Amino acid sequence: MKTLASIFDGPLTRFIEPVSRCELNQRLKTGKATGVVVICCSELSNVNSLFPDDPNLPIFTWQNLGGCVSDSNGLEELIAEKQITDVVILGHYGCEIIEVGLRCDSKEEVSEKKIYQEVARRIAPTRGAMKERFGDRFDKHIFQKAVEDFVLRELASLLKIPSVYNAANEGQLRVHAWINRDDTMESATYDPKTRTFWVLPDDDKCLPSRSL
Ligand SMILES: [Zn+2]
Repeated sequence: MKTLASIFDGPLTRFIEPVSRCELNQRLKTGKATGVVVICCSELSNVNSLFPDDPNLPIFTWQNLGGCVSDSNGLEELIAEKQITDVVILGHYGCEIIEVGLRCDSKEEVSEKKIYQEVARRIAPTRGAMKERFGDRFDKHIFQKAVEDFVLRELASLLKIPSVYNAANEGQLRVHAWINRDDTMESATYDPKTRTFWVLPDDDKCLPSRSL
């Protein structure tokens, strides 16, 4: 059975840092982090509330269907300017884009509307992985695993961009994967050591507003 970690080429995992929102906020406030990119699903609103309410903080947000790296135009240029120290791939456990993508399995279902075709295309690798791991079963647990799989695939594709890889390899860039829990507003972060998403102990000190 394939695991989440198998999404990555082994060496890439060394660039993934488990970091809490509090820690990243602190780094921004103290200037240790000079710029943060957040790539996330268009369903999320008020993403900047993840960070302190300071309009001067350098947060760059890309939002699109599911939160795809390939749909984040200008990302490479921004990284090349070397003003970014952190990139966060931010998913959420109730993601309807991913749920729709998992469910529209047959061509008949997705043929009508272009947006469904696009969702199906973006979710296809995750849908395939879930089928391989769980067959035709679908429940809340499998849905959560699908969100984790999707976020990690995006993180892997981010690290495969040469400029991102080079910046990470030179120690200029750290990458993180977070998944918001829509019910509790907690944020789980991916830890390559345990190969799981978990909520870091200081997460509750900086819960974002409920509108996220
Ligand atoms: Zn979503």
